[in-house]
Amino acid sequence: MESKRTKFSVHKIELPNPFFEKDNNVYLLESDGELALVDAGIELPQAFEALRRGLHARGYSLEQVSKVFVTHKHVDHAGLAARIHELSGAEVYVHEEDWPDVREYDTRYPEVHERYLERMREWGLPAEVIEQMDATRRTFQELGRSAPAEPLRDGEEIPVGAVTVRVLHTPGHTRGSACFLVDETLFVGDHVLPDYTPNIGATDITAHGLLGAYRESLRKIRDLDGVEVLPGHGRPIDDVRARVDEILRHHDEREERILQILADGRPRTVYEIAVALFGDLRDHHALLGAGEVYAHLEELQRAKLVAPTEGGRYVRL
Ligand SMILES: [Zn+2]
Ligand SMILES: [Zn+2]
Repeated sequence: MESKRTKFSVHKIELPNPFFEKDNNVYLLESDGELALVDAGIELPQAFEALRRGLHARGYSLEQVSKVFVTHKHVDHAGLAARIHELSGAEVYVHEEDWPDVREYDTRYPEVHERYLERMREWGLPAEVIEQMDATRRTFQELGRSAPAEPLRDGEEIPVGAVTVRVLHTPGHTRGSACFLVDETLFVGDHVLPDYTPNIGATDITAHGLLGAYRESLRKIRDLDGVEVLPGHGRPIDDVRARVDEILRHHDEREERILQILADGRPRTVYEIAVALFGDLRDHHALLGAGEVYAHLEELQRAKLVAPTEGGRYVRL
């Protein structure tokens, strides 16, 4: 990963993530003796140990880290930020739209949790699934905690040694998701992933219209051709333009499928559409599937192709 770089080096450290997606990639960025991290992993002892060992293997310690750039508020990216800050005094940075949920994680989590339950009811998820998700998501609170973060704005540049980290606001997966550009290296968090399409709609319920925002954000990085793209999970993305086009196409096709499902004129709940689309959905998949459908329904509603009707149902216009 160091081939084209002269003023800085990047090393990937993989942290275990037994709950969501795959292992998390934390990137160690070193320039002119200064050390920064991109993302911070889940607050679990085994993730912390893996991070510590990863730094030691390079001859560094966590105490030497001076900056932590968090791509978005999810616990598998922000969870360990507080701990790193306590050890090293490192500044923690996150885009201003995700910032409140990172800085005030401990107090906001229960509120966000209640909103999730509300949304799941609106979407028509079966009571037993909501009950199960209620219990599961309560236990997830422990995977993160409040970190004294600083808010970032689009276009801002923060120095690390001899280079600068440029902030690109790329809302969609969360409202405050950001990519970080260092010379010709782009850290994308969960904005674009190599093996599956990042969830839109269920991964941030504090905002509306995130699929529309996501499409725009994809176009924003599509033209950064020739840039090395390092995601929060999985291997580097070789051809960002091709991957972006694939994801855009995926969402267009999904929209078509939803319109087909509603073509018979029968009103359906978000969950009913999700089951028609994905088959039987249980636990976390029910939430993710319904959230994804909801994000599309918002777009279709904006395009005046569907409309909400009684009982949280939607009809085709
Ligand atoms: Zn995420
Ligand atoms: Zn993630």
